Amino acid sequence: MELNNYEVIIGLEIHCQLKTQSKLFCSCPTEFNKEANINVCPICLGFPGVLPVLNKKAVELALKLALALNCEINKKSFFARKHYFYPDLPKGYQITQYKVPLAYNGYFLINNKKIRIRRVHLEEDSGKLIHTANETLVDFNRAGVPLVEIVTEPDFRSPKEVVSFIEELKTILIYLDISDADMEKGNLRCEPNISLRYNNYSSERREIKNLNSIKNVYYALKYEIEYQRSVLEKREKVERATLLWNEKERKTEIMRTKEEEEDYRYFPEPDLPPLVISEEEIAKIKEEIKELPQERKKRLIREYNIKEKFAEIIIKDKNLCEYYENLMKLVKDKNLATNWLINEVLRVLNEKNIEINKFPLKIEELGYFLNLLSDNQLPMGNIKKIFYELVEKKITLKDLEKFSIKKKEEDLDKIIIEVLEKEKEVVEKYKKGKKGVVGYLIGKIVKAAKGKVDPREVREKIIKILEKD
Ligand SMILES: [Zn+2]
Repeated sequence: MELNNYEVIIGLEIHCQLKTQSKLFCSCPTEFNKEANINVCPICLGFPGVLPVLNKKAVELALKLALALNCEINKKSFFARKHYFYPDLPKGYQITQYKVPLAYNGYFLINNKKIRIRRVHLEEDSGKLIHTANETLVDFNRAGVPLVEIVTEPDFRSPKEVVSFIEELKTILIYLDISDADMEKGNLRCEPNISLRYNNYSSERREIKNLNSIKNVYYALKYEIEYQRSVLEKREKVERATLLWNEKERKTEIMRTKEEEEDYRYFPEPDLPPLVISEEEIAKIKEEIKELPQERKKRLIREYNIKEKFAEIIIKDKNLCEYYENLMKLVKDKNLATNWLINEVLRVLNEKNIEINKFPLKIEELGYFLNLLSDNQLPMGNIKKIFYELVEKKITLKDLEKFSIKKKEEDLDKIIIEVLEKEKEVVEKYKKGKKGVVGYLIGKIVKAAKGKVDPREVREKIIKILEKD
């Protein structure tokens, strides 16, 4: 039997680290790449007798995401303990939200297709195991770092749709400054579940873990579709399982089967009060996220007539968007300014590893520079050098005047008239047909203007004068 008209059913569980200074229930910092086990305290190490205190910033960020995903908000939600034993979980349970999550029943549009969001909730991260050649070490720096979990309905019909969703979600997370959303660094983790449906018959749902890039999500799903299809074709059963993605061999491997499925024995967290969200808080955050990246992208393309790929780059960062739109109000040549921002300004940010709000030139300063540039007031060959000197504060905007290659219009006219007056004999030769002498006259004028003129412009001007008489 060859299976062709089967349907792919994919749902997602996404964990995302929230960009807060401190952990979810204690004041330990959330920074990474620190020495192991230094960002820890009795609360995140699960000592007996300590009390967790909820981080308000984490709630705000999770709420922002839930509203961006068009969710309904539970005005009162609850925390629960999820029990399991693992060396990276010092308390023996994880504080999460279970029956009543922060938000539910949302949706998100991917290429005009609605992906329903089942729930969005807050929970804490676990520690990290580090496997070396002959031992396994544990680092609790990550234990207690705030996570938001997003669970979608199984509305995806292809790996491609999943990829679009994750990419779009990443853009929102970065744009709204909710998370760094870097899959390679593990602050965005995606666990898809997948089954195939054929003639009202579905294979068992299989969940894939350990996917650390969008590319791997795509390949793992592709692999699993092929695998499940081949099993169904043999009229065999696809076993329900939790899988791991083996990146090297490019295949999924069984981590555990249904029989081994864990029972977490959830129960209400007795040390935390219900999480209460007011109408005012919701209204305030809704105001902050009025225009989401996709809408803004469309508007940028429309308003400034820029390439889609440039709009794409700009909307990734809300502050960059603000900078860009303010710059557009100041500059004469919007096209030039857009190109300069994408190529030169972003290069500086990259080199210095800084964000746009740390960029050394104020919007007005960059605007002034760009307007000189679009007026041809700066020597083309040296522009980048001048720009870097400005950025490094080796020169000021005032110094730009001395680079100006162009004399003011009236000044140039005056110089031309003076030179032609002096070179009467040469002018006569021109009028008698020796057109070649024009080069000599241009030379004289450029010299008189101390080189700060554009020879092409001078040529046009003298020819006009000479032909007129
Ligand atoms: Zn702590």
